[in-house]
Amino acid sequence: MAKSRRAVYPGSFDPLTMGHVDIACRAARLFDELIMAVYDTPNKALLFTTQERVALATEALHDVPNIRVDSFRGLTVDYARSVSAQVLVRGLRATSDFELEFQWSLMNRKLSREIEVVCLVSSLRYIFTSSSNIKEVARLGGDVGGLVPPCVAQALAERFGRDDSAPPVPRYLAT
Ligand code: ADP
Repeated sequence: MAKSRRAVYPGSFDPLTMGHVDIACRAARLFDELIMAVYDTPNKALLFTTQERVALATEALHDVPNIRVDSFRGLTVDYARSVSAQVLVRGLRATSDFELEFQWSLMNRKLSREIEVVCLVSSLRYIFTSSSNIKEVARLGGDVGGLVPPCVAQALAERFGRDDSAPPVPRYLAT
C-alpha cells in the first residue's frame, strides 16, 4: 500500500488570512493530509489567543476534508515528528520571506534530517497580505474584506469594537 503523506503547515496565524488559506488549500492538493499547526508561543505580541486562532482556522477551513487544525508549542520539527509528518509547508511572498524561510529550512534540516520543507509561492492577489498589515488596517477601521475569511473579519470587528455590518464613516463626514 502507498505510504500516506502528511504535511504540517506551521504558523502564528494571528489571524488567518486568505494568503494562508490559499497556501493551505494548494498544499492540501499535494498531500494526503495537511495539519494547520498554530504555534502557541511565537516571539511576537498576539492579538488572538491560541484557542481563538485554532477556532478561526477550523471554521475557515472546515469544508476541506483533508485539512485539520491543531496547536503546538516547542520546536516545529518535534511537533512534525510527533504527528508522523515528513513535510513542513511554508508560504513565500517576497525576497524578505525567502531570506527567513531559507534560514529556518537550514536550521530545521540541522535539527531533523528526515523532514523536508516545501515552500509554495503566494498567489499574486495575496502577495501584499500579512497578518500584521491586516491587524493594522482593521484597527484603524479600514476594510479587510476579501483578504481574510468572513469569520476572521467578524472577529477583528469585534476585537476592535466595531459593527462589521456597516462600513466605517470617515470622521470628517460624521456629524
Ligand atoms: P509566522 O509563521 O512567521 O509567524 P505567519 O503565521 O503569518 O508567520 O505565516 C505562516 C506562513 O505563511 C509563513 O511561511 C508565511 O511566509 C506564509 N504566509 C503568510 N502570509 C502569506 C501570504 N499572503 N501568501 C503566502 N504565504 C503567506
